[in-house]
Amino acid sequence: MTYHWSLVCSASDETHDASGLPTVSSLGEPWLVTYSKAPDPDVKARLASRAWDMWRYREWMPLDEDEEPVTLGEGCTPLLRVPSLERASGVETVWIKDEGQNPCGSFKSRGLSAAVTRAVRAGVRSFVIPTAGNAGVALAAYGRQAGTAVRVYAPRTTPLRILEQIELFGADLQLLDGHIGDCGKAAREFAASGGAFDVSTLREPYRIEGKKTMGIEIAEQLGWSLPDCIIYPTGGGTGLIGMWKAFKELRDAGWIAGPLPRLYSVQSDGCAPVVRAFDAGASVTEPWQNPETIAYGLRVPGPLGGKVMLRTLKECGGKALAVSDPELQAAAARIGAEEGIDMCPEGGAAVVALEKLAADGTIGPADSVVVFNTGAGWLYR
Ligand SMILES: *Cc1c(COP(=O)(O)O)cnc(C)c1O
Repeated sequence: MTYHWSLVCSASDETHDASGLPTVSSLGEPWLVTYSKAPDPDVKARLASRAWDMWRYREWMPLDEDEEPVTLGEGCTPLLRVPSLERASGVETVWIKDEGQNPCGSFKSRGLSAAVTRAVRAGVRSFVIPTAGNAGVALAAYGRQAGTAVRVYAPRTTPLRILEQIELFGADLQLLDGHIGDCGKAAREFAASGGAFDVSTLREPYRIEGKKTMGIEIAEQLGWSLPDCIIYPTGGGTGLIGMWKAFKELRDAGWIAGPLPRLYSVQSDGCAPVVRAFDAGASVTEPWQNPETIAYGLRVPGPLGGKVMLRTLKECGGKALAVSDPELQAAAARIGAEEGIDMCPEGGAAVVALEKLAADGTIGPADSVVVFNTGAGWLYR
């Protein structure tokens, strides 16, 4: 079997071919997928006739020519103009990328569609994942779609609706005291005992490739141009890393021109390892003690992708900032009331970040900005 992609370590020049079930590099760092050639220019014109889901970008993805992905129609979420936020922030052009409209109610669908597709192709019949909630729902659904077994480790404090969805899709749900880091330990033990393949964030290379489609999609939605700024609520970091990878690949292939967006990473002040490391000028994140936030997707105290995220923020000229739980909660409720968009708490954090960055002049009135709503608010209520 030959593949049109291979893997390169995110922290060294170690490489790996795409066969089998790659996990992390010998340094224990995430792999990044690298393609042997960019898609032909005529692929762009062919997009018009394709189905409206993230696999329309299949030439940019780890998928064989004759292969069908494991899909529930993920991706191609709307980019919505937000007049009330434009007025409140003084920034003339603001969109919300509403990832809550994905299958399973969050952008986790993108990453897990890609990861499950590759793993099933390599022969996996049983999966395990630690989750703050949404990744568990998505793996349960895609695992069901592929006819495989799924075990999910989630904190006991996960919102009830999310737990109900995981059970609805037939996964074996294990509730633990503690946070996603504790669940990660349990998942790795279960995987090591031969129980299942671990699809934890960045412990396999393909979830990033699914998340990457958010970046390609924004470019297509804006007529193959990019906004000046993107504000992204950051936990494990796959979205941030994936979108930056997409922009560089699109630029290198000549599909877009001009400067790439500045990415702003927002966390809750109850768990902000990326913000603390960024402010200290550090190149690695240190584990955050006693992580606490109602924005469960951001409750990731020791992200494996810390190094790549910090490098990405520096490269793009962006930064990281923290907001408080009461602020993010109020912002999510306000956008719901004013715009009819169902914001998750993490999306609320991105809204607060826009207002802060606009107020201190980091984002100017003429900048165009995409604010990410990473999931549906109803799952948390
Ligand atoms: C997982 C999750 C995040 C964090 O995403 P990363 O790309 O892993 O940083 C943010 N918001 C929601 C709703 C999530 O489920």
